[in-house]
Amino acid sequence: MTPAPEIEKRRRDIAALLPDLKADALLVASSANVRYLSGFDGSNGLILLMPGETHFFTDPRYAITAHQNIAGKVHVAKGPLVAAAAKVIQRKRLKRIGFEAGWTQYDAFERLQKALGRASSLVPVGRVIEERRMYKSPDEIDTIRRSVNLNSEAYAKVLKRIRPGVRELDIAAEIEYQMKMLGAEKPAFDTIVAAGAHAALPHAHPGSYRLTGNELLLVDMGAMLQGYCSDMTRTVHLGTPPKRIREMYNAVLEAQLAGIAAVRPGVTAGKIDVVTRRVLKQHGLDKAFVHSTGHGLGLEIHEAPRLGKKDPTKLAPGMAITIEPGVYLEGFAGIRIEDTVLVTETGCDVLTPSPKEFIVI
Ligand code: ZN
Ligand code: ZN
Repeated sequence: MTPAPEIEKRRRDIAALLPDLKADALLVASSANVRYLSGFDGSNGLILLMPGETHFFTDPRYAITAHQNIAGKVHVAKGPLVAAAAKVIQRKRLKRIGFEAGWTQYDAFERLQKALGRASSLVPVGRVIEERRMYKSPDEIDTIRRSVNLNSEAYAKVLKRIRPGVRELDIAAEIEYQMKMLGAEKPAFDTIVAAGAHAALPHAHPGSYRLTGNELLLVDMGAMLQGYCSDMTRTVHLGTPPKRIREMYNAVLEAQLAGIAAVRPGVTAGKIDVVTRRVLKQHGLDKAFVHSTGHGLGLEIHEAPRLGKKDPTKLAPGMAITIEPGVYLEGFAGIRIEDTVLVTETGCDVLTPSPKEFIVI
């Protein structure tokens, strides 16, 4: 659980942005942002944040947890949460209400506008909470570190069970079972287990395909621990890998290590993408690298910044990001190597402890 003083500080920092946003209060609806500002992990919560005061709205299913755990004024509403929030807005005579434009559903927006009438206006605000969420606190870093270690521990256990005859689905199920046995709430995303040419699909779904004794296996897995995600990809080979596959693996590893070596405060997220892509180009594999180099992670598996060439965000200490170049050749193979790293004052810490040499099973 996030310590109460930290939640309090987050709320203060976001409320301090309100004058610049020309808003008297901010309505927060996205579940990760609601969790960030309250600790609430249910499916139906809404926050009305203003300087010195926070109102939290939920439905009767969450009444007990909300009253026990959430600081500020808790409202349990029987109907739509926005209608309950509108009542508070009217009572407090708040004029300009910021809302998360990227997260507000149109019907919720309409309902709110109708409930507020002419007395207040709705002001769309950008991803201000997401921007603050890029900078992890020591407490968040500690949780991410534990999530990453748990994920690698689950991987080490499952690695021993990979052999010809098992299905992709068996491996995915075993991974998710081991994560939970080690204390994870759930996987941070649908586990990817892809054999042979199937691995050429970067987001392949595990199926009933049984491993042969001679092919690649790509595993992309992440755990969620106390709300925080980890993310790792490893590619191994059953049987002796052909020369072409070994060369591809070495190229991806070289790109991944170059990306990690380039991470330090002040460097843009986009620059890291340029670095990994340049290495793959030297190996004639840049066209086979079809996604960005990585992403921030925290309460969500994909957060800001995005390590794509257009992202101008300057990396800063406390950011948790992934470095995950990959190459995908249709009908042949896919290789990706992904670590979670933490930006430090001088460079970065690779949090993922799992080895990266090409494992042959
Ligand atoms: Zn991943
Ligand atoms: Zn990732």
